[in-house]
Amino acid sequence: ESVSMAKRVSILDQHKKPSSARVRVAVRLRPYMEKEDEKAPAACVRGLDSQSLEIVNWRNQLETMQYQFDAFYGDSATQREIYMGSVCHILPHLLIGQNASVFAYGPTGAGKTHTMLGNPSQPGVIPRAVRDLLQMTRTAAGGHENENWTYTITMSYVEIYQEKVMDLLEPKNKDLPIREDKDHNILIPGVTQKTINSFGDFDEHFIPASQNRTVASTKLNDRSSRSHAVLLIKVQKSQQVSPFRQLTGKLYLIDLAGSEDNRRTGNQGIRLKESGAINSSLFTLSKVVDALNQGLPRIPYRDSKLTRLLQDSLGGTAHSVMIANIAPEQKYYFDTLTALNFAAKSKQIINKPFSQETTQSIAALPAMKRPREEAETAAGS
Ligand code: ADP
Ligand code: MG
Repeated sequence: ESVSMAKRVSILDQHKKPSSARVRVAVRLRPYMEKEDEKAPAACVRGLDSQSLEIVNWRNQLETMQYQFDAFYGDSATQREIYMGSVCHILPHLLIGQNASVFAYGPTGAGKTHTMLGNPSQPGVIPRAVRDLLQMTRTAAGGHENENWTYTITMSYVEIYQEKVMDLLEPKNKDLPIREDKDHNILIPGVTQKTINSFGDFDEHFIPASQNRTVASTKLNDRSSRSHAVLLIKVQKSQQVSPFRQLTGKLYLIDLAGSEDNRRTGNQGIRLKESGAINSSLFTLSKVVDALNQGLPRIPYRDSKLTRLLQDSLGGTAHSVMIANIAPEQKYYFDTLTALNFAAKSKQIINKPFSQETTQSIAALPAMKRPREEAETAAGS
């Protein structure tokens, strides 16, 4: 197929480019959650190894499609495994003034918020990254060579909804501008910025802000799945002696809007307009990621608010990771394909029916033993 050809070519091109400009893509399959009955087939997708999965081919039941990524996490992967495998290695770059972004992509219900935020017994990427950054700056400030530097961590939290940037820490700021300074740093003038010295400080600002988001969502029928939640953690490093240098590293942690195609689900009026805005900004994001990964000369950052905001933290010298979340149930099939085609490094069609192996055991087993295992790792981190 022509799509997979283009992606194959892009893999060859990547050797010519600095590897950091590439957006690394990981796929996470969540456990099967719908009640299983004998009639309904269990899962339509299953993992193969730590970089690939296979999925039934809807065009031809005698064929199976195999996809490859930088990383694949199966339905028994823990929050800690995802954090350790795909996120924690980018944090040290923030302490030397480089930028980074981590975003969760996928249809509503596939596990984006679980991956980014999680819950108290299974903390996700956000609490783990904040905790580790606080620890890293403390260690660095205490080190011998670094006694002349101090570190400050700040947070901002915005929502991009219908191409408007809203401040979740100060909800009266409803349509904030995005600007670029002379050094090509992207900023949001007027956005609230809170200093965090401890994880408690972070929670104190983050929890009510998240509630701001949910409260707004009940008024407008699940707006939270239709907007991008963008958490910005800034690490500022200041030299205490002449020449008083300053370095700033930015980390964006993003729970993207649901990638489902709302035209299929029959939304109309305002909902349709909304999904238009969401789909076009996700579409722009996919164009930006493809352009970066193919090494194209023009990256269309300016085509949406989200990519404009991420311009200095996605591609270039920034470190970027996309975690595409997918769900195994049949009803997600086409949304899963969309996510896989976005995330894949390569795709292959295999001449064998998907149903040859039984998926029942794969879907059911790990889900049952997870909670205890997770609680242990969470307590230890
Ligand atoms: P999204 O944010 O993409 O809409 P959620 O993160 O809210 O999806 O996940 C939908 C449901 O599935 C939630 O109840 C969540 O707790 C659960 N879930 C998602 N991923 C996992 C996982 N890896 N393990 C266990 N439960 C999960
Ligand atoms: Mg969510």
